[in-house]
Amino acid sequence: MLSQLFEEAKVAREYAVSYRDFRVGCAGLAYNTETGKWEIFRGANLKVSRNGRPVCAESIVVQAARARGYNLIIGLGIVAETQRDDDSGVVLDTLTPCAECRETLLAIPAMSLRSLIATATPDLSTQEVRSFGEVLKIHGSDGRSYPQTADSPMLAGDLDRLRAIARVRLVNLLEVANDLLGVLLRDSETATKEKIEQCRRNAEKEIAIARGLGIGNDPVVEKLIRRLHLVKP
Ligand SMILES: [Zn+2]
Repeated sequence: MLSQLFEEAKVAREYAVSYRDFRVGCAGLAYNTETGKWEIFRGANLKVSRNGRPVCAESIVVQAARARGYNLIIGLGIVAETQRDDDSGVVLDTLTPCAECRETLLAIPAMSLRSLIATATPDLSTQEVRSFGEVLKIHGSDGRSYPQTADSPMLAGDLDRLRAIARVRLVNLLEVANDLLGVLLRDSETATKEKIEQCRRNAEKEIAIARGLGIGNDPVVEKLIRRLHLVKP
């Protein structure tokens, strides 16, 4: 799920238009709690000149999802070179949404404080996963001035349903990762340390999502995580 968001965001970044070559790609996983439908939306930043009106990749994604009737943004993947945040002055290893975007995201009901903000460098070598609430904190806000945001009782129910879906998906993914590790370990020809590490890293990313959704302590998920950790490269 997470790796797909990063890949989609990376592709979106190629379509960015920036007079100063500051390109941002974003992909959002949107969920419709009424129909159970999922869709991934892409966006790229648009700033044609110094005086041109800037449009951020993240706001394009959330508004496109909203216009198609999606009422929950599960997560945003953002791929860009990092830079100092103009508003908070914070510099992170990867680029998180700017102050204007943070405000926009807070005002959009489909965005939850628990929605994931997954950020990566253009080559995806550095990746960070946080909840939207954590991102706000890092930049010095707790989002309390926007009571319409996210953790409303309605959304809490939606998140429970979402967790149930995400759990099934995660268990499947971890089982695949476990099987793959098993194959790699049995086959000494292909079982390079790198391949095993890659497999483990992919599983770790999915586990990070599970923790973000609050299902990291699920007994089945925990068992699979333990098994993954037992297999030493
Ligand atoms: Zn922005």
